[in-house]
Amino acid sequence: PLASWNGEVMPLSEVRVSVLDRAFLFGDAIYEALRVYEGRPFLLDEHMARLRRSLDQIRIETDVDHISRRILELLERQPVRDGLIYLQVTRGEAPRTHYFPANPTEPNELIYVSPLEDDPHAEHRKTGVGVVTFDDLRWKRCDIKSVNLLGNCLAAQAAREAGCAEAILVSADGTITEGSHTSLFGVRDGAVMTAPLARNILPGITRNLVVQLANRADIPIREEPLSRDRLPEVDELFLTGTTAEVLPVTRVDDRPVGSGQPGKVTCQIAAAYRGYVADWLAG
Ligand code: PLP
Repeated sequence: PLASWNGEVMPLSEVRVSVLDRAFLFGDAIYEALRVYEGRPFLLDEHMARLRRSLDQIRIETDVDHISRRILELLERQPVRDGLIYLQVTRGEAPRTHYFPANPTEPNELIYVSPLEDDPHAEHRKTGVGVVTFDDLRWKRCDIKSVNLLGNCLAAQAAREAGCAEAILVSADGTITEGSHTSLFGVRDGAVMTAPLARNILPGITRNLVVQLANRADIPIREEPLSRDRLPEVDELFLTGTTAEVLPVTRVDDRPVGSGQPGKVTCQIAAAYRGYVADWLAG
């Protein structure tokens, strides 16, 4: 694949970065992942707004206005029909100190595109997936999309070892925040619930779209935390995310959710999502 490295387009395999880059030493970097449908980046402005906010929150001072242009340029140089764009901005390179260096290099900016030929979730969207619960080990600013993802990686690995697609993260107080790389929704008595936006979850771009789609379809939606104790009471569960899209959850820790099949409201929302993408592509 091709990459855009500080604005220069080159093979991804040829990008070189110093071991003194603060992303390597401290995880001092912000990232985004965007979906490409039929060669076009989906919800580009929303991702750029979240990128800007994350960078502001950790005080990486850089302008992101050129980044959308570089994404489009990269897609022209390397057309992919269905794919994923990964992008990362680091604080740059400097001798190692915990505090921000007075004179770091310019932020390092990486963008690359990879094709998503065999969508790993295509079958899962029909059948539903199993998830495991896992302690939410992450830091207290999960609203910032930083590359510090160890808590997420440990959770995703636990899911994989259990033969499951995702781990849902349980806080010390028993509330479920989100998945390791997805947002979580529950359905009870026809109403959709998802954790309110706060510092303990990522403001998912797909989450936001799903809230709008539910409103538009007159499906009641409440932003309130789900708890582990009340999981047995939910009729349906689903995950959302850039690659997951809308993914029904049919088992949690080997117990069936509701009927054990993808639920009615979940399927309605998944159809609304696909309709939204189709309209956008046609528009
Ligand atoms: N929550 C976490 C922790 C994530 O890492 C992600 C995506 O990477 C999401 C939720 C879903 O967010 P989005 O819909 O913006 O892809």
